[in-house]
Amino acid sequence: MTDCLFCRIVAGEIPAQIVVETDTVIAFRDIAPKAPVHVLVAPRLHEPNVAALAAASPQVLADMAAVAQQVADAECGGEFRWIFNTGAAAGQTVFHVHGHVMNGGALGWDA
Ligand code: AMP
Repeated sequence: MTDCLFCRIVAGEIPAQIVVETDTVIAFRDIAPKAPVHVLVAPRLHEPNVAALAAASPQVLADMAAVAQQVADAECGGEFRWIFNTGAAAGQTVFHVHGHVMNGGALGWDA
């Protein structure tokens, strides 16, 4: 989708600090980090939210989980919070599914 920010990052049209790339998933640093470790894990496939991705491709969601663990192993001892905002009222601003991998310090529930 040409009007999707994260599709454009996947396509290399917008720069990002990519930390892991696989055939199906990319992980890149959040541009406005809210924790010492704050990495976004997104599929190359465009789906609007995590439930839609689970329905369309459970394997890609599993791939995302493996990449999230890989990021956390490298950056924060393998322990992390993984947040999927779903819907504008829940704070979702980019409607290409992504999980926020966060840690590196005390995390409040408003992280
Ligand atoms: P959400 O609010 O759950 O949809 O998360 C979107 C996240 O994308 C926010 O935490 C933003 O800071 C982050 N973000 C927005 N634009 C970029 C960008 N160009 N590169 C990396 N992260 C971004």
